Amino acid sequence: MNEAVRALEPKALWNHFADLNAVPRASKKEERVIQFIKEFGEKLGLPTHVDEAGNVIIKKPGTKGKERMTPVALQSHLDMVHQKNNDTNFNFDTDGIKMKVDGDWVKADGTTLGADNGIGVATIMSILESKDIPHPPLEALFTIDEETGMTGAFELKGGLLDAHIMLNLDTEDDDELTIGCAGGVDVTATGKYASEAAPQGIKGYRLAVKGLTGGHSGTEIHLGRGNANKLMNRILLENEGTASASLPSRAVASGTRSHGKASPASACLRTRCRPSPRTSKHYAIR
Ligand SMILES: [Zn+2]
Repeated sequence: MNEAVRALEPKALWNHFADLNAVPRASKKEERVIQFIKEFGEKLGLPTHVDEAGNVIIKKPGTKGKERMTPVALQSHLDMVHQKNNDTNFNFDTDGIKMKVDGDWVKADGTTLGADNGIGVATIMSILESKDIPHPPLEALFTIDEETGMTGAFELKGGLLDAHIMLNLDTEDDDELTIGCAGGVDVTATGKYASEAAPQGIKGYRLAVKGLTGGHSGTEIHLGRGNANKLMNRILLENEGTASASLPSRAVASGTRSHGKASPASACLRTRCRPSPRTSKHYAIR
């Protein structure tokens, strides 16, 4: 069954992919694939290192005339998502992925294919093995557990790589180069407050920024859409201490999911006077 895949061009790439897909490699169960890629590097006679986390690093000198060029790291992850259809009889702990060629597509028979990121791993394997592709010194970095926590990448220690350029081969498009990406960070901030009664003549308001389109922080960040958090804080800052809306105390809440660009945000304010029509008009944003 996998023979049809092995016959595809470029043969080196598809054969490495088929070899890799014969090895079970669920996230957090990567012992066998770590061993597989370690043996691959050692068989080629290349310096091969497995770090404490289980990441594998294989270094290959630059080809003739390119030995002194800046080293480049090529990165991909060894683990894959193991999932199968309900009616598929398959044991991910022991079975290799059964692949087929369907028109222009390589598919798996009733399971996930492991192209994420197996095709990246196979690409790097092909370059490490090649004798006819000119390249600078290479540092192949195969990380573990990308799919369920990125623990391999997080636990990668400094000092193992010399490269200043890294190409991440984990992408969805084969005809695009991405030279940057949105970062993400989770912040948990906690604080205490003491409540107090509002003084006489003070009114409470809830100010809301809502109805924005929202979007994904990774794939739609470049579309210039409004971020309710930013808009809300801009409104609060610009009006702080002004006659139209003095804001002696406030609380801001917003956001729904991680990776989401905040679409609703609200703030509780108290003020002696109503926000002026100018304020409400100025911020009538959709
Ligand atoms: Zn991936």
